[in-house]
Amino acid sequence: MIIDTDLEFTGRIVTPDAPDWDDARVGRMFNGRRPGRQPAAVLVAENEQDIVNGVRLARANGWSVVTRSGGHSWAGWTVQDGTLLIDIGNLQDIRYDDETKIVSAQPAVKGGDVLSPFLEERGRFFNGGHCPSVGIGGFLLQGGQGWNQRGWGWAAESVVAIDVVTAEGILVRADEKENSDLFWAARGAGPAFPGVVTRFHLATREKFGFLGHTVQAFELDDFSPVMTWLYETHKSVSTDVEIVAVSTPTPLPDGTERRVLLVTAVALVADRAAAEEALAPFAANPYLDRAVFSFHCKESSLAEQRAQQELQNPEHWQYLTDNAWVQGDDHADVVEHIRPLFADIPTERGFAIWMSNGPTRELPDMAFSLQTEAYVASYTVYEDPTEFQRNRDWLNGAFEHAQPVTAGQYLGDSDMTNRQLKFMGTEQFAKLQQIWADRDPDGRFVRYLAKDPATVNRNHWQL
Ligand SMILES: Cc1cc2nc3c(=O)[nH]c(=O)nc-3n(C[C@H](O)[C@H](O)[C@H](O)COP(=O)(O)OP(=O)(O)OC[C@H]3O[C@@H](n4cnc5c(N)ncnc54)[C@H](O)[C@@H]3O)c2cc1C
Repeated sequence: MIIDTDLEFTGRIVTPDAPDWDDARVGRMFNGRRPGRQPAAVLVAENEQDIVNGVRLARANGWSVVTRSGGHSWAGWTVQDGTLLIDIGNLQDIRYDDETKIVSAQPAVKGGDVLSPFLEERGRFFNGGHCPSVGIGGFLLQGGQGWNQRGWGWAAESVVAIDVVTAEGILVRADEKENSDLFWAARGAGPAFPGVVTRFHLATREKFGFLGHTVQAFELDDFSPVMTWLYETHKSVSTDVEIVAVSTPTPLPDGTERRVLLVTAVALVADRAAAEEALAPFAANPYLDRAVFSFHCKESSLAEQRAQQELQNPEHWQYLTDNAWVQGDDHADVVEHIRPLFADIPTERGFAIWMSNGPTRELPDMAFSLQTEAYVASYTVYEDPTEFQRNRDWLNGAFEHAQPVTAGQYLGDSDMTNRQLKFMGTEQFAKLQQIWADRDPDGRFVRYLAKDPATVNRNHWQL
């Protein structure tokens, strides 16, 4: 297939008849569970001008545009029928300004593997995603639940400006003052952002001096008392501590490996004394004598934490994920509703997380606008595609059980082709729809990939 165009590209346009079509279409997806959807073409961009020309090419052909940065969308949002998929994976530039302490990075840069070490060498830190290979593009656009988001905010809150190619195919800067509507949308609209971001300009923070790590491992039979205690405690813990409970297969001191509940706390502070103080509430856990093993305030590093995350998320396995923002005054009741997500995971490598978001911080005015005091997500991990339906049914059932305490979801772990929930405030969603109408009236950029686009941003059981 030949695409007739006067536009010049440094990169390559791959069409469905090319021998490497499937590689271009899905090869860079992290999730080995690949969608069958067929784009019209894939543009493997080599520079910003390619992206500008790509949007112009899409206009000329009546295609809508999807952008792939890191390729980590669980639900395969980058693969959509009849679109031009602009793959910007080869754009990897990072620049740091020593005076402003602002780093500017292209969206396919990996937050943990690349950006974090780059900044660490300069004594700086940016709270990128936990899994090191996640691209900053999709991550920041949907809010960005990075290191110590609980205390230091959503990663998108550190975006000070973006460079973006608009629906007209023009490269512009967007920040608080110019193109402020696009800047607002770029912090939470996620995969329905009306443009291609070619660069993020990010405020950085001074690198912490000490990383103290506490882990307490419990049998899953102890899930309810331990998690109820955690619920009652987490909001009073220092906001320099990231608090996550994980159900995951774990090597144990007796040499065996089995699924346990890990209560983990990571203090990102100036020195050991500050870490000891920040982590003290965990040493007072009344159930500690039941722990299968534990360690307290052990010195760790970002590199070590990244390596652990990588082990938990093997690349190209098949993943089904879902998530919920949960809430409720009766903590024991909330815990009972989320328990199956942690205790009954059907795959050996599957895992589930409960992440503290308390005390809940007030958000700046941006598209990202829905959160509660705690976040839960569950991931089934398998290799054999025939396990799909069994895992899908289990995940749906477990999240249905959590429905009475569910306020909505986070885009990052969602798949609206399966289950649609609210992810943004009602007012903010109306504003986003107005921005779509003003900036992209022809729908040049895809909207949310959903089972029922007419009921997007509503909890399905409340329709
Ligand atoms: C192993 C793993 C661990 C994860 N851990 C975390 C975590 O700790 N915290 C968290 O918040 N999320 C996490 N996620 C979710 C992840 O942040 C989202 O899937 C995110 O969308 C990935 O960004 P990406 O650029 O890699 O993905 P892509 O699949 O490349 O992009 C996802 C979507 O974002 C949009 N997009 C991407 N780049 C651009 C751009 N430049 N311009 C316009 N639109 C764009 C597109 O619509 C695209 O379909 C994790 C995902 C995986 C697979």
